Amino acid sequence: MKQLNVGDHRYTLPLFLPDATRGVVRGLSSQQVQEVGIQGVVVNTYHLLERPGTVVLKKLGSVGALMSWRGLIVSDSGGFQLFSLIHKHPKLGKITDEGVVLYSSEKQRRKTLFTPEDSIKTQFAIGADIMICLDDFSPVSGSAKRLQESVERTTAWAKRCKTEFEKQCRKKGLSKRNRPLLFAVIQGHDQPALRQQSAQELIELGFDGFGFGGWPLDSNGDFDYHIARVIADATPNDKPRFALGVGSPANIVKLRLMGYDLFDCVLPTRDARHQRLYVLNQPLNQVNFSGKRPWYQHLYIDRGRYVADPTPVDQYCDCPTCKNYSKAYLHHLFKIQDSLAFQLAITHNLWFYAQLMKKLQQM
Ligand SMILES: [Zn+2]
Repeated sequence: MKQLNVGDHRYTLPLFLPDATRGVVRGLSSQQVQEVGIQGVVVNTYHLLERPGTVVLKKLGSVGALMSWRGLIVSDSGGFQLFSLIHKHPKLGKITDEGVVLYSSEKQRRKTLFTPEDSIKTQFAIGADIMICLDDFSPVSGSAKRLQESVERTTAWAKRCKTEFEKQCRKKGLSKRNRPLLFAVIQGHDQPALRQQSAQELIELGFDGFGFGGWPLDSNGDFDYHIARVIADATPNDKPRFALGVGSPANIVKLRLMGYDLFDCVLPTRDARHQRLYVLNQPLNQVNFSGKRPWYQHLYIDRGRYVADPTPVDQYCDCPTCKNYSKAYLHHLFKIQDSLAFQLAITHNLWFYAQLMKKLQQM
């Protein structure tokens, strides 16, 4: 069984990590998240840098202390928000070799710079167990030249991140045994040769794990599983592979079978808020993932047919929601827009993911 070792903690892989973007898995307390069987969360470096900021985080010790979370904490690099902003509003910033430059507004040219070193320093203030190098996100519509540039810049920034990471470890007296882990992100969009080049350069620099950024989509709008396979084949088996931002239960199973170990996604919580719940078609221990029959389906709790349905959301689920409440009650709570609706729906969807991980860990 593949394990993730962080300090004295051992985690059996694969793991699903819901997004606690601003230091909260929306709708649930940290204790509730732990009770549904979730062992780790992903927080967002850029959002936490804005609020509560590094001064507060350093005073409290970590975001884990702030949110009373005792499990694994992964921080992203903070780059994704900045890149999305610049791709949407090119006048608000630009990407240079030094880092990401942001302007205060389209007219005011007061600059702030977010560098690979800033990303690592902020992730130390957050107190993450797994940190992620700032990467240059390959644009989907990028020219061949821009894609090559993004791979080269990603390597250069990963090198600077590693140097800053080692500097911070020395400063804090952290040894190889008790330090956090540092992952690099492989870029190269839908080009197998570029993905392989990116992987090779990052492997040579030496990291604790590898994340895969900028998922290309195929003509059906689904993941490009061919590229996912290329990346899995290009990375070492003894290091965790992080499928960043993935995905639906079906996506996760497919990528797990290729050798991916860590997953994080907004889907289970976002779907729950939009009244979309996951329901098994048979008990999970009887599911054969290679079978032709879909092993789960979506249930839309807002449908009129559930208004007086006394049965639980999922007859095969033992989560606190399904054990105690009916479809009729959940339907009612959404209709009257009570926050308990979110809580019960998110509890069920996260439980579904946690149980799926348990099954995959045994395979
Ligand atoms: Zn349930």
